[in-house]
Amino acid sequence: MDFKRNYEYLLSDLSSLKGVGIKTANLLKKKKINSIFDLLWKLPKSYTDRSMSTKIKDLKIDETQTINIIPQKYSFPRVKNLPNRVLCTDETGEIDCVFFNSYEGYIKKILPIGKEVTISGKIKYFRNKYQLTNPKYISEDSSLIKQKHNNYSLTDGISEKVYNKIMLQIINNLPKIEEWHSKEILKKFDNISWNDAIKKLHQPDNIGKFKENFYQRLAFDEIFSTFLVNSEIRKKIKKFKKIKKKFDTKRQNEIISKLNFSLTNDQNKALYEINRDLCSETKMFRLLQGDVGSGKTIVSLLSAFNTIISGFQVAMMAPTEILARQHFLLAKQIFSKNIRLELLSGKLSLKDKKDILTKLLNKKIDLIFGTHALFQKKVEFKNLGLVIIDEQHKFGVNQRKKLSDKAGKNCDVLLMTATPIPRTLTMTIYGDMDLSIIREKPNIRKKIKTYSKLENKINDVIKFVKKEIELDNQIFWVCPLIDESKKIDHTSAVKKFKYLEKLFPNQVFLLHGKTNIEEKEIILNKFLKKDFKILVSTTIIEVGIDFPNANVIIIENANKFGLSQLHQLRGRVGRGSKESSCILMFKSNLSDNAKKRINILKDTNDGFKISEEDMKIRGFGDILGFKQSGIKTFKLADPIHNQNLFILAEKEIKRIEEKKEKINRFKPLIKLYDRADIINDIA
Ligand code: ADP
Ligand code: MG
Repeated sequence: MDFKRNYEYLLSDLSSLKGVGIKTANLLKKKKINSIFDLLWKLPKSYTDRSMSTKIKDLKIDETQTINIIPQKYSFPRVKNLPNRVLCTDETGEIDCVFFNSYEGYIKKILPIGKEVTISGKIKYFRNKYQLTNPKYISEDSSLIKQKHNNYSLTDGISEKVYNKIMLQIINNLPKIEEWHSKEILKKFDNISWNDAIKKLHQPDNIGKFKENFYQRLAFDEIFSTFLVNSEIRKKIKKFKKIKKKFDTKRQNEIISKLNFSLTNDQNKALYEINRDLCSETKMFRLLQGDVGSGKTIVSLLSAFNTIISGFQVAMMAPTEILARQHFLLAKQIFSKNIRLELLSGKLSLKDKKDILTKLLNKKIDLIFGTHALFQKKVEFKNLGLVIIDEQHKFGVNQRKKLSDKAGKNCDVLLMTATPIPRTLTMTIYGDMDLSIIREKPNIRKKIKTYSKLENKINDVIKFVKKEIELDNQIFWVCPLIDESKKIDHTSAVKKFKYLEKLFPNQVFLLHGKTNIEEKEIILNKFLKKDFKILVSTTIIEVGIDFPNANVIIIENANKFGLSQLHQLRGRVGRGSKESSCILMFKSNLSDNAKKRINILKDTNDGFKISEEDMKIRGFGDILGFKQSGIKTFKLADPIHNQNLFILAEKEIKRIEEKKEKINRFKPLIKLYDRADIINDIA
């Protein structure tokens, strides 16, 4: 088969294009454009209309215009710094084409004396004459010039003209691809084929036409391919039959009755969903999503308990040791002595560690807590029945898949994340998992009062802090995120620390990017034990840790953070029963737009709502570091504006799943659009 007629042509290297040498290919690679397919999503930002031609007498200075001219006379001065010139005319006047650094031979070729040539460019007027310097758009074939030329936002070192040429070449060589969508789906997009849609996408007149069928179809392809891969992963996980867990929830309810609070409805519902999964014969792969402080830990511990009383072991992993320890201590508190708990800490002696490993293998431990160290090869279980992973929102789909594979045949998997995100995004990012959501927060929580303050009012803030300290409360002081440079952030944190240390001697500790892990844990533990009052830190304080006595958080340069990030930071306080406050500090008066944003934060404590607003403002790739997680961002689709497409894609996936349709016809779609490494063992 002709290679060019197959979709694989689109995946081939850029250097297979005419006019793209190593140099250009490398420039593009720097922009993460590695294949022809990648180039398709580099869209024109605007166009220059060169389709109308004018006469020389009607030329307008400083505007881009197109004229038909006849070269009359060359003037090649052969003196350094003096340009070559070609005098050209039409029946109404004269114009000079001026060339710096162009060879005579080249000039003679593109502007042959006596032949009509079409040129286009920005016209200047110099010494009583029109002139066009270094014209790029010249051709004897006027149709090549007289059209709308796309302007791409250029990669350094590649000119518009080269770009247009490359794109034209690709568009003209698009392989015919067999339709992958069903007739019903295609109808929704007026039956436009993928090829035609791509062609339309690059037509100058279509720039910015997001609502048209070609754009919608292509956005849908993108969403659909992601969902399809998720669905395939899910199917694979569900294929495994496991031993059902058997337990009586009476015992779980006994534990609940001894808590000093009752579970919220959402907690109960999540627990019910998890228990149902534990008891089913298919493997659980579930995400427990709930805002900071919504009480996920207790739900996960109860499901751990149920797993244990049905005769299995459980591993619970947290991102930091201090959080693992906190979970461990909580479990110790609520479970009876019959449940054998351990913490696999980095601080243990070699002997103690070995001891734990042996016990795990002999099933002398029921529930183990730890960091990612729990996933080392040498950590082996007798019969692991459930893995719980806390605060995993930075795991990409790849890592999750590996985890599920690794967890073993009878092992259910529960992931937890405190990153509320809009539903369209959840479908995208976590579509391979089942989902339980805790939306409602324990109602004993008092609202966190949120204030904004100008930086020059810092004395008011200090007064406030003094009062809080007198009440024996603790304070988080988050230092300005100045820019991407960690060094400047660091200096400013140290400065703020010194400033506060003077005001509150022996009451202030500092955490920054350079504090090593051990030291960090020591400081956090001290803070937890109320050994000091103010914790100064740069940006993110460890997620998940409960500091019930901290009830004030001060965030400097708050405008540098996104809403979701501010919400997460704010969630560090207000976990106990005290009134708490969050003070957002700003360098200068807020713009109306910024005020609007901050008001959202003041008005609501619903992380889902906040993240939706945040996404509207900043785009979804940016929220909460999802970019770093390797989660691919869409090129065309937009989780806010294309909600209907996300829902349509979800429906179509369900239909395919229910009908058990073969997915062979989607192979090109998946190969083109998706994460090849995952798909290898699928398609
Ligand atoms: P997160 O969902 O952020 O992990 P945690 O599980 O750490 O939240 O819970 C935060 C705090 O709320 C803990 O101190 C926990 O004991 C408490 N908590 C959990 N559920 C409830 C509830 N239903 N009512 C009151 N407090 C609760
Ligand atoms: Mg938590």
